[in-house]
Amino acid sequence: MQHIFTVDAEDWPQLLCSYLGHDCSVSEQFALSIRRTLDLLDAHDTHATFFVVAPHAAAEPEVVREIAARGHEVASHGVSHAKLYTFSPQQFREDIRRSAETLEEITGEKVRGYRAPFFSLMPQQSWAFEALLDCGLDYDSSLTTLLWQREGMPLPDEPFICELPDGREILEVPALARRFGPITGRLIGGRTLRVLPFGTTLAHMHDRERDDLPAMLYVHSYEVTPDRLMGYLPSGLPVADRAKLFVSAKAFEVGMGRMSRALSELLERYKWAPMREVADELRERGDLPRLQIEDLVRRGTEGAVTSSQPEVQSNVRAQ
Ligand SMILES: [Zn+2]
Repeated sequence: MQHIFTVDAEDWPQLLCSYLGHDCSVSEQFALSIRRTLDLLDAHDTHATFFVVAPHAAAEPEVVREIAARGHEVASHGVSHAKLYTFSPQQFREDIRRSAETLEEITGEKVRGYRAPFFSLMPQQSWAFEALLDCGLDYDSSLTTLLWQREGMPLPDEPFICELPDGREILEVPALARRFGPITGRLIGGRTLRVLPFGTTLAHMHDRERDDLPAMLYVHSYEVTPDRLMGYLPSGLPVADRAKLFVSAKAFEVGMGRMSRALSELLERYKWAPMREVADELRERGDLPRLQIEDLVRRGTEGAVTSSQPEVQSNVRAQ
């Protein structure tokens, strides 16, 4: 069984500064943390998918070319890194089109997949599946099944195919999430790997292997670094904003020291592959659940959904 290893490649300092209205350039942390991740994967002879934020890629094209040259997949993490429910359908199409063009220009390789920032695809945005197909993508990994299931949407806890009436189809590889006491954590990656007991992750891996389903791991490139995130912030920020970023940085850094060790152990114990490779294997199996995009769009707009700020994705620090 090949599981799916994914990396969200983004520059934490630039994103956080932009959320506070500052026009900061991409920091050296972006390329540095990606190269550390590449070295970790090399050490375990493993290839992965890197979902890259397009403007960060444009600022550091060399490291993005290096991702592809070292045998990994480069996929889209959008242009603006905004939560998907802030987009109109037209804005979303434009974001995807521009991000795919940017990445394809840099690597010379076709972009096949997309991940929404914060896994923020909710039922109200089911129109996104058709937009992704229109932009030439064939898989997506943007939603958390638990959040949809809580809204009464009929999603399985496994990859599934979304079909259009015209015969086109897109594969969705969702993130799973579970309640762990007061914490809702996605399986597996990010905060779950940093904060919860490692046995939680191993139990999930055991379940996926038993059920003959791939696990999907996600990690941010900046989590694969022992550095203090604050060290990469630009100088000259107002004191009040520095204080806000300090709080965010501290939240992100909780458990960060455990991440490299957890990843090494998972890379050692299990076989991992890029999402494009596992996506092709899953399609060949031919036994995936199939859902109609029209049905998802209808349910999403009919009001089966009540909340627009779901718990897991409501806070940048909850990643
Ligand atoms: Zn992201």
